[in-house]
Amino acid sequence: MDRVGDGRSHRVADRRSQETDRLCGRAMRDRFTRKSKTVRGRMRQNVKQDVLRRDDYTCQYCRKKFAAADLTIDHLIPMAHGGLDEITNYATCCEPCNQRKADMPLQDFAKTIGVEVKDLPVHGDPIIDNNDLPIQIRLLRKSIFDKERERKFATGSGFQKKLEKIYRRTFWSTPIGVALESEIPSLPGHVRIMIPEIRTIATSKEEYLLLVELAKSASTRNLIGTTLTAGADVINIVASMKERHGEEAVRKRLQQAWTRYQKELERLATRA
Ligand SMILES: [Zn+2]
Repeated sequence: MDRVGDGRSHRVADRRSQETDRLCGRAMRDRFTRKSKTVRGRMRQNVKQDVLRRDDYTCQYCRKKFAAADLTIDHLIPMAHGGLDEITNYATCCEPCNQRKADMPLQDFAKTIGVEVKDLPVHGDPIIDNNDLPIQIRLLRKSIFDKERERKFATGSGFQKKLEKIYRRTFWSTPIGVALESEIPSLPGHVRIMIPEIRTIATSKEEYLLLVELAKSASTRNLIGTTLTAGADVINIVASMKERHGEEAVRKRLQQAWTRYQKELERLATRA
């Protein structure tokens, strides 16, 4: 089982993390805007291939390896029970497991295979999958997923909203949250809570300032940890996206963040 922090080799963890970064950029976009699709759609073939590769062609339930043709992608929490058609809810699954699981609630199915819900993976969450974040934060996040999965019925499109709400509430009682509160009290809480993530991405003062501005609005905050991950050319990506992003509302928010970022740079330059 690849529980968070279970001491798998770094090489495997890094590869897993890169795969997930790629997947996140494409598939997980609803962390703050809550636009997750709830209708069952046909998963694009390349997404399926990416999920299979991410899971190393291993059934996430029986842990056996199969050829790609014998594997399916399962919704951990069935959509019939409100599970999201979303990357954090995708798992590679062999045919026999898929048939036995069908639309059974996750916690019931877990019992039939002698596995605990907390041992089932969560992939695609920008915090859980970010190996550069402190383990306390990642475990906190995982525990929220686990509690939600233990419930008889997951709560569908409300899940992301609830997840972030519980995360925000519990984050401030961790030593990391307490330290951030006294370190940067002037930032609003919803921005400050993203500072650990921002610090794993930013490689310069400029990138840091731009990411902080992006964290201020839900539609641009969504890009942090999904499109903008460690190693990304943050400034150039944002500069290009503010002109070309497909959604007008996001373009507008990006332009506003960019303007605030420019002002902040000017302010720092005159102060220096
Ligand atoms: Zn299986």
